[in-house]
Amino acid sequence: MKKVYFKIDPWKIIEDGFDESKVRASESIFSLGNGSMGQRANFEEQYSGKTYQGSYIGGVYYPDKTRVGWWKNGYPEFFAKVLNAPNWIGINIRIAGIPLDLNKCIKIFNFRRELDMKTGIYKRSFELQLSANIHVAIDVKRFLSMKEGSLGVIKYQITMVKGNADIEIDSYVDGNIKNYDSNWEDPFWNCKSKIVSPELLLLHSQTLKTNFDIATYAQTQLFDENGDSKGNFTISDQNQFISQNKKHYLTEGGSCFVLKFGGYINGMNHNVKEFESIAFNLVLNASSKGFNELAQEHNNSWNKIWEQSDIKIEGDDKAQQAIRFNIFQLNQTYTGHDARLNVGPKGFTGEKYGGGTYWDTEAYCLPFYMATKNHKVARNLLKYRYNQLDKAIENAIKLGFTDGAALYPMVTMNGEECHNEWEITFEEIHRNGAIAFAIFNYERFTGDTSYIPEMGIEVLIGIARFWAQRVNYSEFQKAFVILGVTGPNEYENNINNNWYTNYLCQWCLRFTIEQILKIKKQHIQKWEVIKVKLNWLDIEVDRWKEIADNMYFPKHPNQDIYLQQDGFLDKNLIPATSINKNERPINQHWSWDRILRSPFIKQADVLQGFYFFENHFDKTVLERHFNFYEPLTVHESSLSPCIHSILAASLGKKDQAYDFYLQTSRLDLDDYNNELEEGLHITSMAGTWMSIVEGFGGLRIVDNQVHIDPKIPNIWKAFSFKINFRGTIINIKITKQKVTVDKSNKDLMVYCNGKLLN
Ligand code: BGC
Repeated sequence: MKKVYFKIDPWKIIEDGFDESKVRASESIFSLGNGSMGQRANFEEQYSGKTYQGSYIGGVYYPDKTRVGWWKNGYPEFFAKVLNAPNWIGINIRIAGIPLDLNKCIKIFNFRRELDMKTGIYKRSFELQLSANIHVAIDVKRFLSMKEGSLGVIKYQITMVKGNADIEIDSYVDGNIKNYDSNWEDPFWNCKSKIVSPELLLLHSQTLKTNFDIATYAQTQLFDENGDSKGNFTISDQNQFISQNKKHYLTEGGSCFVLKFGGYINGMNHNVKEFESIAFNLVLNASSKGFNELAQEHNNSWNKIWEQSDIKIEGDDKAQQAIRFNIFQLNQTYTGHDARLNVGPKGFTGEKYGGGTYWDTEAYCLPFYMATKNHKVARNLLKYRYNQLDKAIENAIKLGFTDGAALYPMVTMNGEECHNEWEITFEEIHRNGAIAFAIFNYERFTGDTSYIPEMGIEVLIGIARFWAQRVNYSEFQKAFVILGVTGPNEYENNINNNWYTNYLCQWCLRFTIEQILKIKKQHIQKWEVIKVKLNWLDIEVDRWKEIADNMYFPKHPNQDIYLQQDGFLDKNLIPATSINKNERPINQHWSWDRILRSPFIKQADVLQGFYFFENHFDKTVLERHFNFYEPLTVHESSLSPCIHSILAASLGKKDQAYDFYLQTSRLDLDDYNNELEEGLHITSMAGTWMSIVEGFGGLRIVDNQVHIDPKIPNIWKAFSFKINFRGTIINIKITKQKVTVDKSNKDLMVYCNGKLLN
């Protein structure tokens, strides 16, 4: 178990004391977001120590030209980068001429950060000894409004604990921003125009190549301790660094505070010509409300979110804090109002993974948004892929496929493939299966039968056509095989017949056939239109049936076990516990060659299939596979522990399920994989939610009915969660003795361990 750095509290994340080696990790943990924009918890004032500056805007990216050693046909042209955007939070302070800098001052006292997840407000306070005669106390509150997507608010209070001094405030917008993760060190932004006045700072920047227009705006005010305004700021303009400045004299014991409003106005939603008037209205409206009212509005939005999505755990604050942190971050990342946006693995908390959309969305995130929001939110996630179908077809064409076959990208921002590692880009074709599975899962959960005939069927047919061309018939096996793939376990590349991929292929073909039959029966007119649009030929279905009925699956010759891939038994199958602790994670210590030869599994692979298709196998088969594969698994993907937790819970292995739960839920809080500095693992946070609801709660939707099969961890007294099942809010509370279910629609039936609950 990892050492706890952030204090345990059911609603808060607390850092007590200043540790310069943790600054970058804490910048990740205390990140803020509101679905439209987000930022790492960088300090407002200057900091000359080690930091990763990061501010990000939903949907805005740059196509960074691919860099590979040897170019091959079909390589993606670019690797899309989520952009580090102009900084609007900066407030440099000088006191008696000395810069306020935590890395340079004489002494720091009482440093504390606190993220209150209930209200969504992030606070930071500390005292500094700046010279023999100057000692100040700083108190900062910050939030990104959940009500107004373009608005962020900072209240920065300065108190003179000792001494009298001039305070110089330099509140800025800085467009001189670079990405840490950049292939060619290119500039990504171009400054188009600016407004520098005491009332408003505005920098209109445009991304190079992609031409996204963004206005970064800010307004600063200064108040004395009675809340009286201290009048206008002066301005300074140094190219892309524009600022509002003010000097104010404080005597010992006195204080003042800076109020700063700012954020981004996104050209994806607004006309560039309106940037200035929108920014003026935002600051006017914000300053007439003031900090408290804005904070209250923000808090009201969070109350509504928690009302629907909170999970309560009694008797285990560590687990409680962790699940709330996960739910909090998921809500900060995606609000579901805009089908052009999606959930990147790092959300708004870091640059790694380019901010792109992965199969994580369909395989991991969808269930969370489906159950804790109105179904339209989840539908938007599906629509995102529907809107990108043409690009998925183009992507398949680039690889030599024809006739409407669609290969969705492994990583994307706009529908094009934009990852530059061939073993991921070309070989992890299993992502196509997860996208099809999500369509099935969505209909199973929400009961919305309109999505498939309206949009989903086109996606399914594109995917089925891809599979039908990607297989080949092996005369030797007398079956269809899939060669040269990477499964979810990325510690194997270019393997043949990954069981999970083959299984998904078979399932996709059969599911698509079923859906076509259904549409033909129920929506014949729609089908006639689709047929023409997709150049449909009925014989396609015959071929799909033939493939699905004759698919090859690698199997152990004398145990009843599906093998991860052909030749898996040639490996030296030693357990992961035999790896020296100081060589973990192996991806940070071993050569790639050694990893590929090893038997070690990065994340659920065969077991991912057992998770998706649990009802295709009985429990003894699952148990046999769990016992075979889990000991070989190093769980070095954030997506691994959650699936194992769910499967362990369903097998009644409660202790193991609980250990995996802590690993998934506290992955970032306890920095399990030593990579917290790079940002948070947002998509796996949805897996954490699943491990409580589907794992310990045992929630399943079977034949349109809600079933639960609770397995409460030994150390918990009780836990409860809510789901929005087809418009009915169901509140399920589980203790060791009983299960209580409250429903907004009394007629809805819920089954517990197979029996109808009253
Ligand atoms: C995992 C992938 C995942 C990606 C983004 C990788 O480490 O192996 O399955 O899609 O991270 O989360």
